[in-house]
Amino acid sequence: MSLLVTNIAHGWTGDADGTRLSGAIRIADGLIVETGALTPRPGEEVLDASGCVVAPGLVNTHHHLFQSVLKGVPAGMDVALDRWLAEVPYRYWPRLDEEALRVSARIGLAELALSGATTVCDHHYVYSDRYDYDPSQVLVEEAARMGLRFVLARGGMTRGRAFDGADMPPPPVESLGTFLDGLRDAASRWHDPSNRAMTRVACAPTTPNFNFTPGELVEIAQEARHLGLRLHAHLSENTGYAAQTLKAFGQRPVPWLAGQGWLGPDVWFAHLVDLDAAEIALLAESGTGMAHCPQANARLGSGIAPAPTLHAGGAPVSLAVDGAGANEAADMGGALYAAFTLHRARGGVGAVDAATVLHWATMGGARVLGLPGLGRIAPGMAADLVLFDLSAPRHLGLHDPALAPVITGAAPVRHSLVAGRPVVRDGQIPGLDLSALGRDAARVTARLARQPEAEPA
Ligand SMILES: [Zn+2]
Repeated sequence: MSLLVTNIAHGWTGDADGTRLSGAIRIADGLIVETGALTPRPGEEVLDASGCVVAPGLVNTHHHLFQSVLKGVPAGMDVALDRWLAEVPYRYWPRLDEEALRVSARIGLAELALSGATTVCDHHYVYSDRYDYDPSQVLVEEAARMGLRFVLARGGMTRGRAFDGADMPPPPVESLGTFLDGLRDAASRWHDPSNRAMTRVACAPTTPNFNFTPGELVEIAQEARHLGLRLHAHLSENTGYAAQTLKAFGQRPVPWLAGQGWLGPDVWFAHLVDLDAAEIALLAESGTGMAHCPQANARLGSGIAPAPTLHAGGAPVSLAVDGAGANEAADMGGALYAAFTLHRARGGVGAVDAATVLHWATMGGARVLGLPGLGRIAPGMAADLVLFDLSAPRHLGLHDPALAPVITGAAPVRHSLVAGRPVVRDGQIPGLDLSALGRDAARVTARLARQPEAEPA
């Protein structure tokens, strides 16, 4: 049973040098078999790419699906990261019942799939015995239902940050033992170490410098590596991180974490906005990766991360949208456009080109997640593809239509495939009732908005 994607006039392989692709792609058993000037075989299924840009499926390396029902919370709109954390995730987490998380995940995954994502890494960091359900299981189920590849970055914390406000709910803390047990349980149920895994688990303490002791971080890294899991966390999202680690530990965040065994090619951090030259060199030398979240960093006024500098130094750079509570435009098209424009606004037109941004969102993401069988269109790679539709007025008049997904910021997806199976077909997600999802979203959001205050202890 094979499938031929035909009539490709505008395509990308995902390589950093911007290699283009045309002709056709033959797919069998979930893999790309051959590319180039190919004609359909008798009985072969055909997918027509006329009027589309073809690219490897996009890889979102840092997200918080639980925040898709926490968009535009008024108290979190015009405040910086610390206050936003208090007013959005840490105020609302106790109200996140199973239905709210399931609806939120479905909204986020649908938005990502309809913007070209075929692999999603979700950093979930609210676990508590207050919940009568397992958040990890809900997230894995919802991703599988949509047919997306999914990396569960199992977060958590042993210490909460102190946020002002007598009415703040308690932080969702676990003991180190409970955190490690949760990690082992997730790994045993969902971690597939293969190069084209449909489901993976990563070890993702929420924010190392605020939420754990150095001794705990050493132990966590050792256990994760023993389990064969990669390491992920938030780091240096704004200047507050360096101020805190200098005060508490006498070092900036990156050299401090190096001392806990937290750098290397099996580690990637979200944000990395505030880095000095020595930190950039340490990240590049160690092969530590970046989940670049340009829109969330802009929305919260945190700054512009030095992604082009890290890329030039050889560090793996990937693209991510971050949670929709701090980036209401939580789609991959917006992330491509933000990365393309923000770096040029700051560094000039030579700062980054469209091919590099697309590489970050494809091969870069696969490298960061340790999934080398994805992210590139070439024989032997996973048949994860996205076909962006160019029929809207926005895309008419383009001299080089292949650039559309990056330089126009909003190329809709006509079709996408994961392991050769359709996730988006003719602009729709088969089996997803968007009207019903809209009603569910309105009901859950109204419930959360009515009950934002802390429950009595
Ligand atoms: Zn985040």
